[in-house]
Amino acid sequence: MNRRDFSKRVLMLGIGAQVGLAKGKPARTANKIGNYYKEPPKKLPVRKFDVVVAGGGTAGVVAALAAARQGEKTALIEAKGYPGGTVVEGGTALHSFYNLWKAFPGVKKRQVVRGIPQQIIDRLAKAGGTTGHAEMLKGYDFDSVCTAIDTEIYKLVAFEMLEEAGVFVCVNTLLTAAFMNGSQIKGVITESRSGREALYAKSFVDCTAYGDLSAYAGADYSEPNDYAVCNSIGLANVSVEKYYEFLNSHDAVTELARGLRSGKDDQIVRLEGSTVVLPDGFSDEADKIGMSTTTTTVHDDYLMFIKLNFKMPVSPTNRDEVAKAELELRRRQFRAVQLFRKYVPGCEKAFIARTSPSLNIRRGRLIKCDYDISHEDVIEGRHFDDDVMAYGFHDMAPRFQVKDGGTYGIPYRALRVAGIDNLLAAGMMITSDHRAHMSTRNTVSCMGQGQAAGTAAALCAAKNCGARELRYAELREALEKDGVYFES
Ligand SMILES: Cc1cc2nc3c(=O)[nH]c(=O)nc-3n(C[C@H](O)[C@H](O)[C@H](O)COP(=O)(O)OP(=O)(O)OC[C@H]3O[C@@H](n4cnc5c(N)ncnc54)[C@H](O)[C@@H]3O)c2cc1C
Repeated sequence: MNRRDFSKRVLMLGIGAQVGLAKGKPARTANKIGNYYKEPPKKLPVRKFDVVVAGGGTAGVVAALAAARQGEKTALIEAKGYPGGTVVEGGTALHSFYNLWKAFPGVKKRQVVRGIPQQIIDRLAKAGGTTGHAEMLKGYDFDSVCTAIDTEIYKLVAFEMLEEAGVFVCVNTLLTAAFMNGSQIKGVITESRSGREALYAKSFVDCTAYGDLSAYAGADYSEPNDYAVCNSIGLANVSVEKYYEFLNSHDAVTELARGLRSGKDDQIVRLEGSTVVLPDGFSDEADKIGMSTTTTTVHDDYLMFIKLNFKMPVSPTNRDEVAKAELELRRRQFRAVQLFRKYVPGCEKAFIARTSPSLNIRRGRLIKCDYDISHEDVIEGRHFDDDVMAYGFHDMAPRFQVKDGGTYGIPYRALRVAGIDNLLAAGMMITSDHRAHMSTRNTVSCMGQGQAAGTAAALCAAKNCGARELRYAELREALEKDGVYFES
């Protein structure tokens, strides 16, 4: 078909469709108002659930598992073709299941996030998809352990666990709207190649990272644009040992952990180097492309995570600016490979084996919740009378650490979206203070929040009550029963 035929066909199809929609009246005339097109109303097929979780990422997978395991009919809506979200596209080392015991001599080692997040790690371990909780040998004032995951195995394991729990998993499905009865969400609209659908439920959990559901439901939000966006890559055909030797020969190694790699114990699984002492050609270019030297790996001859950052001028909810950033990041990825090939022995034939399907973000929208965790709450290690989990990692360590290698609590009220009766939020969208967010947004915190939000949503659905009517004692009992760790 040549271009003229194609245009003619599109024109004919277009006219046919318009006639069909507007019953003989050209829809263009009926629905075009100025530069806007008024969508005609449409009847949508309906599906009914107890709990709908929006976003099948780091927090959403755990939220959906928790809700379904409470016996409630649960749907999970995920835009991509697999569950996982940023945990399989961003950092790949999960921070952190433990307190920062190694940085505080005399402090006891404690696993402070357990429950469903740990069950996922156990399943990954069986499938050869994790280093396990490998102790940091260098850089333990930042984290005590490195828990790296195989991003592809994670997708499969998470998917299978959701299936086993009986979650109705809608992948390749976008959540596009919410419809309300006053301050209560009645349902959401989804779009997929099967068409648009209306999903009704009693309780909802927003785990979309960008807070799409909260925004569509009319919740208050802001867009701080306070982080760089990123598209990390996996570099294959490399030597992990030679990368270590390269960093070590310049006395640059700042982080090191040894753990399970390609089925063999005591292998390098985490590395980071200070760029200041590396050759100028390497560090200058790394600086220009926003590349960090940090990497993790679960496999021989593979650097699973090389991060390329880019600071966008405006919020990453702006589609056209995101398009420019996507291109810029792809250019940076290309330059990163050249850099490794040129400077790092053993990486002369490196190539990109993994990229994220779209850029990743550390914060999109910030959703207003009933409580906003402050930086003092985090570093002072405060706990609340409605704690739903304990957490001890801070991404700005050693500059900021939770006091005495302890933990702080994430309170239930920090997950309740302000002004909406039946909506909880979990993940990177809560916590306004940038420094507090540098703790709460990390993977293992998001997973724990997901378990709490999913459990609470299910209990509310079973009782037919709003998120604020749920008795804390009941939520706590359910979470403890499901293995969640609490500071007594
Ligand atoms: C580059 C980078 C590196 C990082 N490194 C680390 C690290 O090393 N260790 C660490 O602990 N943390 C790290 N973080 C932070 C951490 O990974 C994230 O904060 C965390 O994973 C966010 O989890 P989430 O559940 O909020 O969002 P996500 O995991 O991103 O999940 C959101 C999900 O919602 C889906 N979604 C969004 N909108 C819709 C919609 N409208 N309809 C349907 N689905 C939708 C998305 O596709 C996605 O799957 C990093 C973050 C980035 C960006």
